[in-house]
Amino acid sequence: MRSIAQCVKTTKKAKANHSPQVPRDCALCPRLVAYRNEIAVEHPAWFGGAVPSFGDPSGQLMVLGLAPGKSGAHRTGRAFTGDGSGGLLFQMLHHHGFANDAFDNRADDGLTLHDCLITNAVRCVPPANKPTAAELTTCRTYLQMGLQGMTNLRAVLCLGRLAHDSLLRALDRPLAAHRFAHGARHSIGRVQVFDSYHCSRYNLNTRRLTPGMFNAVFADVRAFLGQNPPPSATGQPPQPTL
Ligand code: SF4
Repeated sequence: MRSIAQCVKTTKKAKANHSPQVPRDCALCPRLVAYRNEIAVEHPAWFGGAVPSFGDPSGQLMVLGLAPGKSGAHRTGRAFTGDGSGGLLFQMLHHHGFANDAFDNRADDGLTLHDCLITNAVRCVPPANKPTAAELTTCRTYLQMGLQGMTNLRAVLCLGRLAHDSLLRALDRPLAAHRFAHGARHSIGRVQVFDSYHCSRYNLNTRRLTPGMFNAVFADVRAFLGQNPPPSATGQPPQPTL
C-alpha cells in the first residue's frame, strides 16, 4: 500500500517552491488574475489574492472546499469566512472538537483549528463560483504541496464533487474507482476520504445539505480519527447560521 507521500505526485513547480502557502499574487491562471484585478478596482481594500490554507498543517484532517467566494474568503483572506459558507462548517468543526467556538465570520475573530486544516481546490475566486477544468488542474500543484506538507494526514473531507475529483487526481487515483457521493468513504492508502455536499448557502437554503446530514459526516470523520469527541458533540447538531 502506497503512503500519502508516494501517492502525491511532486511536480517540478512544487519541488521548486515547497512553501506550504500559495503566493498571494500567483499569476498562473490568466482568467482568475483578470477577475481579481477587476474586483480590486471596486474593492481595493479587500484581501484580493490567492487565499492561503487555514489551520494546522500538522493536523490529521484536511477539509477541502472548491474555491473562495467573492464576498467571503476573497474579501477577508480566510477560507470560508465573510459570507454564508462558513457558519455551519465552523459550528460542526467546533462541535466535533476541531475548532474553538470563536468564529464570528471575521478574519480577526480569534478562531483556531485543532488537528485540522482547511483549504480549497482552487485558491482564487472564480467568476460565478465556477473554476474551469484548466484552473483546477493548474491550482492542483498547491493542493499537492499541501498534502505533502501534512505529514500526519489521515482524513480528507471533500466538500462537493469538484473538490473530490481534484483530490483524487492529486493522489493519482482513478475517479471511476472512487465516485463522489454524499456520505461516501474511500480508502486511499492510509488516507480516508469522506464526501459531503458543499455547505454553501445555496445548498443549505435548498436543504440539499441539512445540519443533520453534515453532522453525520463529521461524526464519521471523528469516529475514524478515533479520538474522544468533546462533551458538546454528544448533543444535537448545531443549526446553520444563514
Ligand atoms: S487559482 Fe491557483 S494556480 Fe490559479 S492563479 Fe490562483 S493560486 Fe495560482
